Amino acid sequence: MVDQSLKVLKGILRKDGLRFTTQRQSVWDEIRGSHEHRDAEDIYMCIRNNDVRVSRATVYRTIDVLVKNRLVRKMDVGDGRSRYEPRLDDEHHDHMICEKTGDIIEFFNEELENLQEKIANDHGYTVVRHVHQLFVKPFPE
Ligand SMILES: [Zn+2]
Repeated sequence: MVDQSLKVLKGILRKDGLRFTTQRQSVWDEIRGSHEHRDAEDIYMCIRNNDVRVSRATVYRTIDVLVKNRLVRKMDVGDGRSRYEPRLDDEHHDHMICEKTGDIIEFFNEELENLQEKIANDHGYTVVRHVHQLFVKPFPE
C-alpha cells in the first residue's frame, strides 16, 4: 500500500520533470496522513514542525503537481485561500462550509447524487464530476 503510493508519486514527479526527493515525499505524506482541509501554508508549517527542511516554494510546487495528477483535491471555499485534501480512493463526498467558524464538514447524500444525475440526464447528459458546496451558519442560539 505504502510502496504502491510511493511508486505513483515517483511516476508523476518523473512525468513532470521533477526529481523524487524526501522533501517532496514529505509533502505527499503530510497531505495523505490527514483528513483535514488545510491551506498550503498550514501544510507547509506542519511539515516544518516535523523537522523536515523544505522550502515553501518546494511545498507549493509539489502540491500543484499532486493536484494536477489528481492525488490531491484543491477546493475553493470562497475566502481566497485554497484548501487541500487527499484523494486516496474514489470515495466521493461534498462539503459544507460554516461561514461563522470556517469549519468544513463533509457529507454524502445518495438522493442528492441521484438527483444530480437525473437533472443532467433530463438535459441529455451524464454527470462526469461535480463540485457541490453548501455555505452554512449555525442556528441562532
Ligand atoms: Zn473533504
